[in-house]
Amino acid sequence: MQVFEHITDTTDFIQSQKNNGKQIGFVPTMGALHDGHISLVNRAREENDMVVASIFVNPIQFNNKEDLEKYPRKPQRDMDLLKVAGCNVVFHPSAKEMYPDEVTRKYDFGSLEKVMEGKFRPGHFNGVAVVVKKLFDIISPDNAYFGEKDFQQLAVIKALVKKENIPVNIISCPTIRESDGLAMSSRNERLNKEQRKLAPVLYKTLKEIRERIHKKPIPEIISWATGEINQYPEMKVEYIEIVDSETLLPLQTFNNNVPSRICIAAILGPVRLIDNISLNMN
Ligand code: AMP
Repeated sequence: MQVFEHITDTTDFIQSQKNNGKQIGFVPTMGALHDGHISLVNRAREENDMVVASIFVNPIQFNNKEDLEKYPRKPQRDMDLLKVAGCNVVFHPSAKEMYPDEVTRKYDFGSLEKVMEGKFRPGHFNGVAVVVKKLFDIISPDNAYFGEKDFQQLAVIKALVKKENIPVNIISCPTIRESDGLAMSSRNERLNKEQRKLAPVLYKTLKEIRERIHKKPIPEIISWATGEINQYPEMKVEYIEIVDSETLLPLQTFNNNVPSRICIAAILGPVRLIDNISLNMN
């Protein structure tokens, strides 16, 4: 496995591989890897000749300074996991390498960036779009793999690729969960034992919402679900929304023919957890 810290070395190496006809699958990450990330690497390995992963804690997508400072960083362990998973190239740049100058680019994703995460994390999706565009320029992947765990991010990236005419296929991959249902996340490491025990209530509530969707009006279900989570003093719901899976706009009524998603964000102790599931039963 090759590890690069500099953009030009990475681009030169990958271009030489592309010139030899290799198809590149790319998995961008912020490190502190878990099985969710590794599932993306596995899928990329199955579908491409070469897998490139990046590890970069992108400062411009954090709207909370403490979240950035405390974000777990374990580059050596990450490299070991990526090697075992069959990754071929890791791009692991510094912030200075990625952003030698002040970032001024402003994207407009319309309502996609204004709802849910966009409301609570101003500037977050612009930071995501800037880094993903830059990574795509450096790596020129044929296929890029993203998790449904970050459902809104996936929608923003699909919009970015369309807007900028970037020749890459965006492949969405299912959320990988712990055995108790908690969606895997690097931030879960910051939960203490008690908080960790409480955390699966998010997924449990998402599933219960799906059970009730035919029985009650949406506002009533959301208010019930908010109460379920807020009953724990350490937890606080930021939003629970039932949205159209394409536009991410809130739905007033559920129709099984319209792809729909339940999305949730809640504070638990020192971290903010997000999760989502599809509402459509097949
Ligand atoms: P992050 O390192 O959190 O920026 O995530 C890097 C990529 O891994 C993103 O595409 C995430 O959506 C994806 N990812 C994170 N957690 C999971 C998970 N539990 N299951 C599947 N993909 C995930």
